[in-house]
Amino acid sequence: MQRLAPALQIERDASLRAHNTFGLPAVARTLVHIHSALDVRRVVDHPEYGRAPKLVLGGGSNMVFTRDVAPVVLKMDVRGRRLVEARDDAFIVEAGAGEPWHEFVAWTLDNGFPGLENLALIPGTVGASPVQNIGAYGVELKDRFESLSTVDLVTGRSVTLDARTCAFGYRDSVFKQEGFGGLAGKSVITHVRFRLPRPWQPVLGYLELERRMQETGNTAPDARTVFDWVCDIRRGKLPDWREVGNAGSFFKNPVVTMEQCRDIIGRDPEIVHYPLPDGSVKLAAGWLIDACGWKGKTVGRAGVYEKQALVLVNRGGASGAEVVTLARAIQESVYGRFGIRLEPEPLII
Ligand SMILES: Cc1cc2nc3c(=O)[nH]c(=O)nc-3n(C[C@H](O)[C@H](O)[C@H](O)COP(=O)(O)OP(=O)(O)OC[C@H]3O[C@@H](n4cnc5c(N)ncnc54)[C@H](O)[C@@H]3O)c2cc1C
Repeated sequence: MQRLAPALQIERDASLRAHNTFGLPAVARTLVHIHSALDVRRVVDHPEYGRAPKLVLGGGSNMVFTRDVAPVVLKMDVRGRRLVEARDDAFIVEAGAGEPWHEFVAWTLDNGFPGLENLALIPGTVGASPVQNIGAYGVELKDRFESLSTVDLVTGRSVTLDARTCAFGYRDSVFKQEGFGGLAGKSVITHVRFRLPRPWQPVLGYLELERRMQETGNTAPDARTVFDWVCDIRRGKLPDWREVGNAGSFFKNPVVTMEQCRDIIGRDPEIVHYPLPDGSVKLAAGWLIDACGWKGKTVGRAGVYEKQALVLVNRGGASGAEVVTLARAIQESVYGRFGIRLEPEPLII
């Protein structure tokens, strides 16, 4: 007897407040829970939703909703984690797009597959991790990436992509690119595979991790210790979005030429900057915002976090429009003082 796949799980007029870490109010006219690649294909073949615009939603930790959402929302609930292969040079592990990222990182450590510990406690889902090539404490997703599976939102075809095709950059990938060749809004990531090198080597070059080594006298921490340090450092620096709504860093760190940087240093010798291998220089966006006097400020019901000027927060009951108004005011004052245009990191809808 043939077993029928369960029907698509569809919600009408679904509140998105609990589906975004800023806690912003918005309603999705149609929200479809995606549990598998087959569910994506069934949406593509659906008489009503097949041709409709779509928005893929993970944990909503990198989104700012400024209005209700007319496109069909595909809420990623694909679960499952497994060891695909234990090679001599690496463990290959895979997770479904809807797996919570931090729980997945903890699972890899619990099962003896270290390598993702520097990326602990980043909110959101596994499926979104390649979209902006998440990074923290000296490691980016691309450093641990093997391949991913997608389903095309027009043809319903499944495709496996390697790192080259994903075109990872600083908080960037082909999934953020629009136009020819870009995949923004065109495909859904259903599974991601990671390559965790053997033997494991810790990544400890980040200033705050070096400080931990000095403080504890532990200069050869194991992966679990690095995980604990990263969680501890992050808890001290970033607000818990369950208590204070936010989307993490609101702006990307701008990258400028060495000449531009020298010009700014001439006027502001204190500016925090990091030379990059290609000769350009990354400036600390949080420092630029702080220098313009924004830290701790409140505009309407949105504000700038007291401990880190790069994080905008919901002071309670804020709308997306209030958050965007504050973000624009910050952009204008940074441009006015430094001549640098800050680019928002989250997707603004
Ligand atoms: C407190 C806090 C701290 C943070 N710290 C960091 C950090 O250290 N480093 C960092 O890089 N980021 C950080 N972030 C940002 C955020 O957590 C990451 O970008 C995360 O990967 C987003 O996951 P998500 O599931 O919430 O994605 P969402 O916000 O739901 O979506 C983000 C984008 O990805 C797309 N997308 C989501 N899932 C899929 C899928 N399966 N297929 C195709 N497209 C998809 C969406 O359409 C959207 O364009 C932080 C956020 C918060 C709130």
